Amino acid sequence: MPKYIFICGGVMSGVGKGIATASIAKILNWYGYKTTCLKIDPYVNVDAGTMNPIEHGEVFVLKDGTECDQDMGHYERFLNTELTRENYMTTGSIYLSLIQKERNLYFEGKCVEVVPHIPLEVIEKINNAQKFTKSEIIITEIGGTVGEYQNLLFLEAVRILKLHKPKDVLLILVSYLPYQGEGMELKTKPTQYAIRTLNSSGLQPDFVLARGVKPIDDIRKQKIAFNCNLKTSDIISAPDEKNIYKIPLNFEKDELGIKLLKKLNLKAKNKNNSNKNIWRKEINKIESLSQKIKIGIIGKYFKSGDFILSDAYISVIEAIKHASWKLNYQPEIAWLNSEEYEKDKSKLEELKNFNGIIIPGGFGARGVEGKILAIKFCRENKIPCFGLCYGLQLMVIEFARNVCGLKNAHTTEINPKTKYPVIDILEEQKNFLKQKLYGGTMRLGNWECRVKKGTIAYQTYKKEKIIERHRHRYEVNPKYHKILEKFGFIFSGTSLNGLLVEIGELSQSAHPFFLGTQFHPELKSRFLYPHPLFIKFVKILIR
Ligand code: GLN
Repeated sequence: MPKYIFICGGVMSGVGKGIATASIAKILNWYGYKTTCLKIDPYVNVDAGTMNPIEHGEVFVLKDGTECDQDMGHYERFLNTELTRENYMTTGSIYLSLIQKERNLYFEGKCVEVVPHIPLEVIEKINNAQKFTKSEIIITEIGGTVGEYQNLLFLEAVRILKLHKPKDVLLILVSYLPYQGEGMELKTKPTQYAIRTLNSSGLQPDFVLARGVKPIDDIRKQKIAFNCNLKTSDIISAPDEKNIYKIPLNFEKDELGIKLLKKLNLKAKNKNNSNKNIWRKEINKIESLSQKIKIGIIGKYFKSGDFILSDAYISVIEAIKHASWKLNYQPEIAWLNSEEYEKDKSKLEELKNFNGIIIPGGFGARGVEGKILAIKFCRENKIPCFGLCYGLQLMVIEFARNVCGLKNAHTTEINPKTKYPVIDILEEQKNFLKQKLYGGTMRLGNWECRVKKGTIAYQTYKKEKIIERHRHRYEVNPKYHKILEKFGFIFSGTSLNGLLVEIGELSQSAHPFFLGTQFHPELKSRFLYPHPLFIKFVKILIR
C-alpha cells in the first residue's frame, strides 16, 4: 500500500476514460477499499478556467474553487465525495510548480531537465493526492490518446513508477473497437496499434477495456490477447451504455474488480456486497421507469459545426437525471437554441411543450436576448423556470426590464454603459480585469449562504445556512435590491453579510417555480443523492 492504477486511452478521444476511471474507483470501493481518482489534463493551461466549453466541455468547479475538467465531476458523482486541487493537474500546472521550485533553488544548482524532472514532479503530485485523501488505491486518468505527443511525459511517469513498484502499479488501456454495421465484426487492429505504441513507451497494459457499440466476444478478445501478449481474461468488455451509472456493473460482469485486486496482491475486504446491491437496485428501478418529463435547456454551447455536443452542460444533465430518477420519472432533455427566439419570437411557443425550462450558466452576449425573451415567456405563461448563475442574472434583468420598468436594464458584462446596471461587477473583480488577471480570479468554489424562511428556497433546504459552489464575476447589483424586491422579486438566499444575492425567486402565489441561483447547485448532485433544488424543481413539474 498504496496501490496505483493508471488509465489511458487508445484509438480516439472521448472513448470514456473518465467514466471508466470513476467506475473502477467505485468497484474497488465496493470491495472495501478507500479509493480516489486523479485527472491529468495534457493542456498547457494551468487549469480549465480559461478554456472554451465548446472545445473542452464543462468547466467543473471543486469546493476549493479549482476550475477543472468535467471528469472530476464524474468522479465526485460516482464516489459521492468532494475532491480538491490535489486531485487535478495539467501540463501547465506541473511545469509551473517545477519552475517555481527551480527559482527557489530547490535543485541546488543541478540542471533541471524535462526527463526525469517532469515525470518525477507528476509522481510527487500523485503521491500527495494519495496521502491527502488517505486512499489505499489511487486511480489516475491520463488525458489524451496514446500516440499523442502531449501525454508522453505522463506515460513516462507511469513507466518510472512501475519500475520502482512493479507490484503496486497497474496500467489500463481504454480503447475503441470500430464497428461498421450488420455483418461486420468489432475491429481489433487499431487497438493492437495503440498497444504497440504503448510498448514503444516502455509500457505494457495490464488490462484492456474494449469499448465499442457492442460487447466484445471471445474470438476478438483472443485476437487482441494473442497479438499483444495479454491474457484473454485481461480484455474486458465495455459496450456503449445509455446509463453511465450501469458501467461499473458491466465491468463486473467480466469480474474486473476481483481481477484488479488479484494483480495488486489484494483481497476483497468485505464478503457482503451491500453497496453494490443498492447501486444495482437503483439501476434496475431506473430501467423500469415509464413516466416521462420533458425539460428544455436553453443554451449556446452545444453546437459545434454540424454536431450537437451536450458536454458543456454535463453536470446540469446529470443533476436532472438524478432528481428525476429519484422521483421515478425518466427525463427527456431537449436542447433549445436561444438565438432562434431572437430571429422569430413565435418559436417561443415551443416552450409550452415542456414541463420545465432550465437556463444554465454562461458568458458573453451571444444568445442572451433570446434567453431573456424565453424567461419572459416562462414567467408570463407560468412555465417552471430554473436559472443557474447566468440564468439567475438574466431572470433579474428580465424582471427589471419588464416588471420594474427599468428599460434596457442589463449586465455590465454585456453593456458596460447601461442606464440600469442591475447586474454588475464588484470592485475587487474590476481590479483583476484591469491587470488582465483572468485565471482563477472569479468568485469560485464554496461560499456560505443564508436562506430566508418562508420561501421556496427554505422549503427546499429546510435550514438557514447552506454552502454551494460558485463560478462568476458579476453579481446582482446591491443598488437595485430594493426596487426589485418592491416589485416582488424575493431574495431568498444571500451571502451572510446580506450584500450578495445567492437565490432569487417569485412567490409561489405569483408563479409555480421561477427561481434562480447565483451558485451552481448542479455541481453537488450525486447519483444516489440528488441535489435538493433539482428535487424541488422536478417535484413541481410532476405535480
Ligand atoms: N457570466 C456571468 C458572470 O461571470 C455568469 C457566469 C456563469 O454563469 N457561470 O457572472
